[in-house]
Amino acid sequence: MSQLNPRQQEAVRYISGPLLVLAGAGSGKTSVITRKIAYLIQQCGFQARHIVAVTFTNKAAREMKERVGSLLRGAEKHGLTVSTFHNLGLNIIRREHKLLGYKAGFSIFDDVDTKNLLTEIMQKEYAGDDGVDEIRQLIGSWKNDLIMPEQALEQARTPKEQTAAVVYIHYQRTLKAYNALDFDDLILQPVKLLQDNPDVLEKWRNRIRYMLVDEYQDTNASQYLLVKLLVKERAQFTVVGDDDQSIYAWRGARPENLELLKTDFPSLKVVMLEQNYRSTGRILKCANTLIANNPHAFTKQLWSDMGFGDEIRVLRCRNEDAEAERIALEILTEHIRTDRPYSDFAILYRGNYQAKLMELKLQVHKVPYRLSGGTSFFSRQEVKDLMAYLRLLVNPDDDNAYLRVINVPRREIGSTTLEKLSVYATQRELSLYEASAELGLSEHLSSRFTERLARFKHYMDKLRQRCFGDDPIAALQEMLLDIDYNNWIRQNSSSEKAAEYRMANVQFLIEALKNTLERDEDGELTIEDAIAKLVLRDMLERQEEEADGADGVQMMTLHASKGLEFPSVYIMGVEEEILPHRSSIEADTVEEERRLAYVGITRAREKLTLTYANKRKQYGEVIDCTPSRFLDELPKEDLIWEGLDEAPKEVKQARAASALADIRAMLSKG
Ligand code: ATP
Ligand code: MG
Repeated sequence: MSQLNPRQQEAVRYISGPLLVLAGAGSGKTSVITRKIAYLIQQCGFQARHIVAVTFTNKAAREMKERVGSLLRGAEKHGLTVSTFHNLGLNIIRREHKLLGYKAGFSIFDDVDTKNLLTEIMQKEYAGDDGVDEIRQLIGSWKNDLIMPEQALEQARTPKEQTAAVVYIHYQRTLKAYNALDFDDLILQPVKLLQDNPDVLEKWRNRIRYMLVDEYQDTNASQYLLVKLLVKERAQFTVVGDDDQSIYAWRGARPENLELLKTDFPSLKVVMLEQNYRSTGRILKCANTLIANNPHAFTKQLWSDMGFGDEIRVLRCRNEDAEAERIALEILTEHIRTDRPYSDFAILYRGNYQAKLMELKLQVHKVPYRLSGGTSFFSRQEVKDLMAYLRLLVNPDDDNAYLRVINVPRREIGSTTLEKLSVYATQRELSLYEASAELGLSEHLSSRFTERLARFKHYMDKLRQRCFGDDPIAALQEMLLDIDYNNWIRQNSSSEKAAEYRMANVQFLIEALKNTLERDEDGELTIEDAIAKLVLRDMLERQEEEADGADGVQMMTLHASKGLEFPSVYIMGVEEEILPHRSSIEADTVEEERRLAYVGITRAREKLTLTYANKRKQYGEVIDCTPSRFLDELPKEDLIWEGLDEAPKEVKQARAASALADIRAMLSKG
């Protein structure tokens, strides 16, 4: 506690009512949460299992868990929940799925599944999937605002909204028929459940006696309602946030929730923190100057005594190639010159598409890196295949999964057969899986095909039994052999190397599943739960981190960097149309982009470098770029502009460094 300043201590000690800590970046909000969890357990007699802390991303949850973990002894933390909103929702659904009308082993549809299903529905209902992304966005925002399909239809005004509402109805119905939930349902369904069932609500309120929420400014309506429902009356909670870091309006986040809190909880106590412990004075000055261009509901003073620090560098590069090259070489040089680990460096960007070239350059110069987000592990073919098998095992109603695996590997079951099966199943209100061994099928299909379908079903039935037995992992390994999956991958890969890589992914997934099962302390996790968890990526990301504890430059989007900090930060593509993003310029929502830039800048502890390109290739065309307006908004006296001219010298230096690194690597290999 003595490590905290008086305001922070006050925030930690205040437990007699609802508390909001409203403060700028790096002022120790997250630190207050982690300390407070320890305080509640060690000083106030709370049991860990009565405490729930929620945060925004898996990465943030993981970090928080680690920080709390180091403050507590083993037994003290037993049963403590530190998770994302989605994981909390999943936990509630797992225990109450019956009341919600879901069977155990429900599936969770990820973004790709969701889009596929919507496309399918639109093709069926509207003979085309035009504007599917927009419709998906609309449905998502309805769900985040707790608007149910029928309501959506009632209040739909434009033709687009009407279409979306009709699709929403079909979509929700189909999900239910598949015994599946999408990501938004993970919050929406628990909220509905708690609203409709007072006794269940009571139970959860008893279980959760103290709640803490980090990054509160980014909660959307349904997340806020979930918190409100769970804490009501007793109102034992602490939320921390910063309105200047609200960057998820596009996903329904409501920074107004900060003000709403005061209305909903009149006894709310507000603590403001003003000292920043993260960044140099100069970095902080830049951040403050930039964000002063936005209107403010709350005035915040933020200062730091970390020394004024180096100038902020702005690198002007010839084109995007030179930009990525420059960053890679600089980091390499710095790493060698200062002996700083690579993990001290972060490269942040507005969109994942910017990462590709950057990755390439880092690879060329043999700079190790770690990429968060981006092409997700779960969008890879082989991972989707195996996941579909897993989903079908735990949820035989998952028609999507059925269709995905039925011909992986080839079982000579053609589309006509599947269509007939589908018609038959629909008529009898059966899942494809159930229908596939029905005797009645033989009226529609020749015995050759009914046998193939039945064989597959019998195989899966047997496999299911084994999976629910003592050793699900062994059963899955056997399954891979049974279906000769390695061979299938080989046939469908461009090279042996690609095939090996893909097989490693499959094993990685099984390994992840195994770890989830083993890590479960209470022994109450079933294989269904383990799979559901996997889909939430939480554990896989953790896996990745653990698997390569190796040093690496951290690459991620600005959005994903929220809450994190790094000694040296590069923000690339600081240009009009990138940051601020083109769509925000068009929609006149540049303020949110400014907050995003603010988030990026305030990640840096000591060094900050902003880069932009003069020219950039876009859709095969070379376009001229304009430096971002945000650069003009920064204090001139604190910036150093490095133009195109300096580049060659730097590049030469860095080339030398690159060669040196090669030699070192060779030497270390022996
Ligand atoms: P963000 O808004 O970016 O999420 P935050 O307000 O959550 O930031 P923290 O991440 O909790 O800030 O803290 C920023 C840094 O300051 C961390 O490295 C933390 O360890 C350190 N810190 C927090 N409080 C103190 C303190 N009282 N004394 C010294 N260091 C502190
Ligand atoms: Mg934080």
